[in-house]
Amino acid sequence: MPYDAIVVGAGPAGSTAARSLAREGASVLLLDRARFPRDKPCGGGVTLRAASCQEIDLLPVVERTVMGARFSLRLGSPFERRYDEPLTYMTQRSRLDAYLVEAAAAAGAEFRDDDPVRSVETNGRNVTVRTERGSYAARALIGADGANGVIGRATGIRPETEKAVALEGNVPYPHGVPAEWREFVGLDLGGLAGGYGWVFPKGDHLNVGVGAWKYAAFTLRPKLTDLCLRYGFRAEALENLRGHHLPIRVPGSSIARGPVALVGDAAGLIDPLSGEGIHTAFQSGGMAARAALQYLAGETDDLSPYQRAVDRRLQPELTVSRKLQELFHFAPPPYVAVMRRSEKFWLFFCHLIRGELTYLDFLRMIGPLRLAVDVFAAAARRRRLARLSAAR
Ligand SMILES: Cc1cc2nc3c(=O)[nH]c(=O)nc-3n(C[C@H](O)[C@H](O)[C@H](O)COP(=O)(O)OP(=O)(O)OC[C@H]3O[C@@H](n4cnc5c(N)ncnc54)[C@H](O)[C@@H]3O)c2cc1C
Repeated sequence: MPYDAIVVGAGPAGSTAARSLAREGASVLLLDRARFPRDKPCGGGVTLRAASCQEIDLLPVVERTVMGARFSLRLGSPFERRYDEPLTYMTQRSRLDAYLVEAAAAAGAEFRDDDPVRSVETNGRNVTVRTERGSYAARALIGADGANGVIGRATGIRPETEKAVALEGNVPYPHGVPAEWREFVGLDLGGLAGGYGWVFPKGDHLNVGVGAWKYAAFTLRPKLTDLCLRYGFRAEALENLRGHHLPIRVPGSSIARGPVALVGDAAGLIDPLSGEGIHTAFQSGGMAARAALQYLAGETDDLSPYQRAVDRRLQPELTVSRKLQELFHFAPPPYVAVMRRSEKFWLFFCHLIRGELTYLDFLRMIGPLRLAVDVFAAAARRRRLARLSAAR
């Protein structure tokens, strides 16, 4: 008997999709190539806006609750901003992802780990997924296999993306992280093309990382060393140093075809300004599951309603974030100065992270100035690309 749906990839997007489908009575196979629990290159920061997308309580895997940030501009003197409510939960992906898989299995999904998908065949209405250990058939397929996933390639759905990369490692503190980091993240802004440096507190270590556009990947190592030096960590003692891609979808590009949909990083749904991907992984996983349920019920002919839902409800936010990213990186110092001095700006940032306001609300708040955002973001992008091609 074919499954109703196969979900490939048991990260936050895949587990959310599998749980949402199984909860509604669909027969679901959730596959992952890694043996669980597995880790993944990630800061493990789950913003309150991300956590609020989950119906299940994430607190059992939360190691720290962040209440504020220690900002710096290009490794200059830091300044602190604090909020009186939680902003971000800090977890480790090995724990979060295993916990979400457990929840999917508890809802009825069948989970097979250590079973990489090798190929996919689809006749437009059904799919056959071949893995290293077997072959499985289903009526719908959700590709949640991350930034370098195979499902998009195998099914010819290739969302166009801009590429960023990040590199991170851990500073161990076996007896607990220093008190000044327990409720604070460090964010160093303006020193990396399109990205930033971070220090994230966990139970027994600090996670230290840097991200940038892929063309600036060669700067990551030295920038990570500089960040460590700035905070008094020994770069050569960083544990578990690893990097990974962050794909950023070009609006409108294809993420669904026939009975197949791509979610999370496989669809390039990273928030460009923050590099946050867990939030949209949760959201897109849920949206793809809803579209698959309608398809399985015979209410739709394919999973194209999923792409329309992403384009209507998710992509507009990511598009504003992409514009703000260009604007910010054109001239970071004034924005960092505003973050330092303006209570209103800091509060907006807190509300955004907590999911109480959105990027679109920001545009509404600035009124006619939003036209300037469009014009200057486009100009900043043109100038960046011109400089880049001149440098090549
Ligand atoms: C260094 C770094 C730091 C980051 N920090 C943060 C952060 O602090 N907060 C945040 O919100 N986002 C962060 N992100 C982004 C975040 O990690 C991703 O957006 C998020 O993991 C996307 O989830 P996903 O479920 O789409 O994919 P993933 O979490 O990548 O999961 C994909 C799964 O698919 C499996 N898979 C792949 N290929 C196959 C195959 N052939 N067969 C079977 N299974 C397969 C993999 O084993 C994996 O388990 C960071 C990214 C990087 C690189």
